[in-house]
Amino acid sequence: MTTKPESAGKPAASTQRLLQAIPKVDEFLGWLVPPVDAPVSLVKSSVRQLLESLRQDILKGAPVKPADLTQEVLLPRFAELLAARLRPNFRTVINGTGVVIHTNLGRSLLPESAMESLLAVGSHYSNLELDLATGKRGSRYSLVEEILCELTGAEAGLVVNNNAAAVMLVLDTLAKDREVIVSRGQLVEIGGSFRIPEVMSRTGAKLVEVGATNRTHLRDYETAITDDTALLLKVHTSNYRMIGFTSEVPLVELVELGTRHKLPVMEDLGSGCLIDLSRFGLAKEPTVGEVIRAGVDVVTFSGDKLLGGPQAGLILGKKKIIEQIKRNPMNRALRIDKFTLAGLEAVLRLYFDEEKAIAAIPTLAMLAMPPAVIDRRAKRLRRLISADLGPVCRVETKNIASMVGGGSLPEQPLPSRAVVLAPLDRTVNELDKGLRALSLPVLGRIEDDRLLLDMRTVVDKEIPLLANCLKEVFTGKN
Ligand SMILES: *Cc1c(COP(=O)(O)O)cnc(C)c1O
Repeated sequence: MTTKPESAGKPAASTQRLLQAIPKVDEFLGWLVPPVDAPVSLVKSSVRQLLESLRQDILKGAPVKPADLTQEVLLPRFAELLAARLRPNFRTVINGTGVVIHTNLGRSLLPESAMESLLAVGSHYSNLELDLATGKRGSRYSLVEEILCELTGAEAGLVVNNNAAAVMLVLDTLAKDREVIVSRGQLVEIGGSFRIPEVMSRTGAKLVEVGATNRTHLRDYETAITDDTALLLKVHTSNYRMIGFTSEVPLVELVELGTRHKLPVMEDLGSGCLIDLSRFGLAKEPTVGEVIRAGVDVVTFSGDKLLGGPQAGLILGKKKIIEQIKRNPMNRALRIDKFTLAGLEAVLRLYFDEEKAIAAIPTLAMLAMPPAVIDRRAKRLRRLISADLGPVCRVETKNIASMVGGGSLPEQPLPSRAVVLAPLDRTVNELDKGLRALSLPVLGRIEDDRLLLDMRTVVDKEIPLLANCLKEVFTGKN
């Protein structure tokens, strides 16, 4: 005699009985008195989802007992499921990673004035594309172009969706079906699959690589120039650093070569700093103004890296070239939206006073933050949680290093201070997972079996919230 495996035929009688014990949708809805405060469609689909998952569990042979199918057990499960579905998917988190420009966490935080501006244009009509002086149609770029030119010395400029779009737009405008010369040391990949060679082939520009990985000389560029050459491109290798026997051609020399051969020179600057951050002990990065003064024809950079603004791609340079770029139909597809423009203008205006910019722009303030201030934050958090967490978790503070992030200034640790959590009742990975599951998720860094919360990137007003999150994860309440 052969016995068929259960899964191949009719479910066993016990399975059948369990399946029949699952409440019907209408029966379940009848249990909800008073009715839950949520859209009916969402309530119904959540009930169906819960009942279906029970069915699947039973069919898979998961250990489900008749007692698991009662109102007492199912109602709390339903409440949890519904609450999760009612919660916005896009939420704020607490960044305890110490990575200031964290791409996965939204890069730069905006200053107060930018937030006010965003709120205003979101709830009112605006002069987005209206010239108020003439009453005629205006250009959205004119809202920031003059400010950008004044801050950097550029002749003209425009802004698009992000720096990747900016690079594509410039290449498409200046080098479609023609050659672009780039040093082999600068064929970089930026996070999120932005690779110079691939971007280039997408725009139809032909990449001409010159030099060696570690060294490229001016003569390498010069001998590669042909009648088909459209552009000399320099890419700022912002996210990696080469050491040892290396050299690249300074921008001024490339500009001089371009001038001699009547070829435009472009720099993809990436991070795009408007002020010199070396006064905060950071490595010297070329500022946008310095690149413009070196005579470059066009420079592109991000709005949300070291500039500390919203996601945007800024394109500055010689008037003739910028006009050409503005006329490219591709520009329309990459255009910047009104919220970004509002935020960007407010951030740029802060740069007219450098000290004000450093104090008000969160990215700059975090980078410039003295270790003593971070230490005070760490001590404050430890004070708030020590008593409650004492029995379940060791809490200490420790000197650590934060990172700038966003592919900016690698190898540039910033001395910082962390609150260190060593849980006694669970593994550090379980703690990490629990913190991410909170309604206000907390992101930290795991090191040596402990969870580190770098206080550089936790702003002052978040500290009491963070303390509550930690109590909640350990005690289930706050
Ligand atoms: C970051 C970066 C980019 C991409 O900029 P996004 O604003 O993220 O699109 C391109 N080039 C360089 C050199 C960068 O550092």
